[in-house]
Amino acid sequence: MGHLIVISAPSGSGKTTIARALMKSFPSIVFSVSATTRPRRGTEVHGKDYYFLSREEFERRIREGRLIEWEEIYGNLYGTLRSEVDRALEQGLTMLFDVDIKGALSIKRQYPQAVLIFIRPPGIEALTQRLRARRTEDEETLRRRLERVPLELDLGAHCDYQVVNDDLEKAIAEVEEIVRKHTNLEPIHST
Ligand code: ADP
Ligand code: 5GP
Repeated sequence: MGHLIVISAPSGSGKTTIARALMKSFPSIVFSVSATTRPRRGTEVHGKDYYFLSREEFERRIREGRLIEWEEIYGNLYGTLRSEVDRALEQGLTMLFDVDIKGALSIKRQYPQAVLIFIRPPGIEALTQRLRARRTEDEETLRRRLERVPLELDLGAHCDYQVVNDDLEKAIAEVEEIVRKHTNLEPIHST
């Protein structure tokens, strides 16, 4: 029986950092690679972080029914591929999803067994600082990302778990415990 673990959070809350830590401590977890029309960031790899598609290619996949959910976020399209979820369920894998809150709730509607974890920033100021420090967004995209935060924080309350990412190590430990409880997998630590 495959397990679906969905992590969601406002942009800059530390979701990617936590997801990467999880993949390290649970090497058997498989990451669901989403499709997106957003341009690639520096270290991102096609097929590993995302499938980077043109808008035309993305829209073709929507028409072909190959996405179980998709959203337009900050002017770009993002979507979860049906083939990824089928792979997890058929092969009994634990799969990790990093999607926005609407996508997370949509996955839960279709797969009620999915475990939804919402990562909360300690506050809007900390969130803004982290996004600025990451240096991946210009002022306009930063503004668009922050504009969406109140809606995301409201919808986040519908997730199964709420984890505040103030102390990163503590947040990772909390998420690891949730995954352990639902999957019976044991985290491995290098120390
Ligand atoms: P998201 O994937 O939610 O957009 P990231 O994982 O990219 O967020 O984190 C945004 C920035 O904040 C990154 O530069 C990351 O290193 C930093 N960060 C993550 N967690 C913390 C934390 N607990 N305290 C301080 N900075 C953090
Ligand atoms: P980023 O551009 O920072 O990688 O992602 C922006 C937002 O899109 C994040 O909230 C991320 O979780 C979300 N996202 C990534 N992939 C998907 C997806 O397949 N579906 C949905 N709904 N959101 C996604």
